[in-house]
Amino acid sequence: MNENRDRLRIAVQKSGRLSEVSLDLLRRAGLVFRASRDRLFLYGENLPVDVLLVRDDDIPGLLVEGSCELGIVGRNVLDEQRLAAPEQPAPAEVRALGFGGCRLAIAVPDGSAITAVSDLAGLRIATSYPALLADWLRQQGITAEIVVLNGSVEIAPRLGKAHAICDLVSSGATLAANQLHELVTVMRSEAVLAVSPRAQTAATTAQIERLRARIGGALSGDGVRLLMLQAPRSALPAITQLLPARDVPSVLSLDGRPEDVAMQALCTTALDWQHLEELKRLGAHGLMVLNVERMLA
Ligand code: ATP
Ligand code: ZN
Repeated sequence: MNENRDRLRIAVQKSGRLSEVSLDLLRRAGLVFRASRDRLFLYGENLPVDVLLVRDDDIPGLLVEGSCELGIVGRNVLDEQRLAAPEQPAPAEVRALGFGGCRLAIAVPDGSAITAVSDLAGLRIATSYPALLADWLRQQGITAEIVVLNGSVEIAPRLGKAHAICDLVSSGATLAANQLHELVTVMRSEAVLAVSPRAQTAATTAQIERLRARIGGALSGDGVRLLMLQAPRSALPAITQLLPARDVPSVLSLDGRPEDVAMQALCTTALDWQHLEELKRLGAHGLMVLNVERMLA
């Protein structure tokens, strides 16, 4: 950690696609924040962790210089910065976070003569991700001209600025609205937790590890349900076979009812009424499905 600070700092996008989801994840990891007057800083009230709210493009730089130990940012932004400045120590990806999913893709105008990757040779491609695009073109052995645009990349072909674009796509609706279609995916991206290359002291490492474990716990609870039921011991094999269980279910004996057991199972797939009815048919009763909020292995 920065020698002048004994609190961890985590950079999060101020306003955009990742802002709310990122803060929500930190809250689910147990952090309670108080906003500063200028709303650029969230002070951690229950842990020595503060949040800095910034433009997503600034996050890799803050990590490189060590102003923040952690950041939540799209892999596309992180990798672009790493490839653009290979001489700098790069922030490392601690883990993917399962939201902000998108892909960096090359798209061409509907009806264009470009139908294969090799057709891009010698053409102009507009993008806000020149380093990622250059790296991919190099890997493909294609020489093309990269036109760097910082916004409205999708209108570049209509303006005659480029033959193709390389931009982020999630549903593809923006491409369709601009009479473009996807040719090829350059990279897949999602939001990631990234760590500063300067965060190396023992105290920082321990604090980061604690937060990482908490975030992991909050994420592993996503979509996980706890199924509780009681059943005759003899029905256990059939019930166990039917369960979409994540781990081995716990089976508990019940006081004064030797024929019966109580069972708890963590399930990752949805448990709908049909599942419950089938379990009931096999002899289960007292069925209950609960959302799992957080888990610590
Ligand atoms: P900022 O003002 O912070 O610079 P921005 O306009 O660069 O914001 P957003 O559009 O909010 O950024 O996107 C933030 C991140 O969300 C992207 O870097 C990407 O990782 C992810 N993302 C997910 N789906 C999409 C999409 N369809 N288009 C763009 N980004 C997407
Ligand atoms: Zn941005």
